[in-house]
Amino acid sequence: MKVPILDLKPAYEELRTELDAAYHRVMESGWVLLGRELEAFEAEYAASVGTRHCVGVANGLEAMQLVLMARGVGPGDEVIVPSHGYIATWLAVTHVGARPVPCEPDPLTYNLDPARVEPLITPRTKVILPIHLYGQTADVPALMRIAEKHGLFVLEDAAQSHDARCHGRAAGALGHAAGVSFYPSKNLGALADAGAVTTSDDALADRLRHLRNYGSKVRYQHEYPGLNSRLSELQAAFLRAKLPHLAAWNARRVVLAARYLSQLAGVGDLVLPSVAAWATPVWHLFVIRTARRDALQKHLAAAGVGTQIHYPIPPHLARAYAGAGWKRGDFPLAEKFAAEVLSLPIGPHISAEQVDMVCAGVRDFFKGPGVES
Ligand SMILES: *Cc1c(COP(=O)(O)O)cnc(C)c1O
Repeated sequence: MKVPILDLKPAYEELRTELDAAYHRVMESGWVLLGRELEAFEAEYAASVGTRHCVGVANGLEAMQLVLMARGVGPGDEVIVPSHGYIATWLAVTHVGARPVPCEPDPLTYNLDPARVEPLITPRTKVILPIHLYGQTADVPALMRIAEKHGLFVLEDAAQSHDARCHGRAAGALGHAAGVSFYPSKNLGALADAGAVTTSDDALADRLRHLRNYGSKVRYQHEYPGLNSRLSELQAAFLRAKLPHLAAWNARRVVLAARYLSQLAGVGDLVLPSVAAWATPVWHLFVIRTARRDALQKHLAAAGVGTQIHYPIPPHLARAYAGAGWKRGDFPLAEKFAAEVLSLPIGPHISAEQVDMVCAGVRDFFKGPGVES
């Protein structure tokens, strides 16, 4: 038995009838962009999140970039971002010409720590941009209180948190707007790149509907300088087929996460994921930490267990940002976590037996001689 970190085929096998029907519906319609499937998906997704609007776009990066464009965020402005997270969040900021201001995470949840955010606010700060990392929501209510006090906008990066809850409210409905990704590996994944913005701000949604389509809603009338960032009819139809299964698929992840947590408790120097009292995570990733990460990853690979590192290089040390003024040592927690985190296989089509096999491999590693690391 092998345990892949990700396999898209079983989802197709489970939903073959629905996905094939979605494909045929779009083919028969003869309409491939900005049509009925997208409109229906937008309504269904907004209803599931609890926002007034969902605006489908091409991917999660552009979802966030478009919100910043729509808000007029640009050169001279600052956006507070997590120091520990995916570079897409930072790229959305630098693509509009604004400056990311990194904030170190809460060491238990890995999410933006509200207590560390407030001291970073300057007269140039425009936006706070938390990621709901690994599928657990950040403390957005606390960030919203800070935002209200200072007149800031809160944009959630909800790429890893479809239907994750914070005090019972869904990710994507916690801040002023959220960027969502439907990249194929996400909890709700399309079969190519896709994304969306959720918001209850009518004016923002209207502007986004222009901006995703060259700044135009009426053909050849361009109100704003926009992007070409559309969610295709085919991907919208696939997402509509999958959305009704999201809750059940997330529930399977919750069961597997509980299994990992009980079987890995007290093993070696492992740091297991912590869940805040008010959070209901959807376990996009199951991330453990150990000082012997690289050796553990090799050991598991030899045992047929696929793992990944989310993420091995913190954004401030990415070559993409060489010359931006950051250096090693600037964000010690982000650097430490990048050296220690390891994502174990989790997903709706991973079995309990597979989790047991992964756990046996991990325990076996820490029972070993422990010389090399
Ligand atoms: C996947 C992801 C993104 C980017 O989404 P794309 O659709 O690939 O552009 C952004 N932020 C986080 C945290 C992600 O996991």
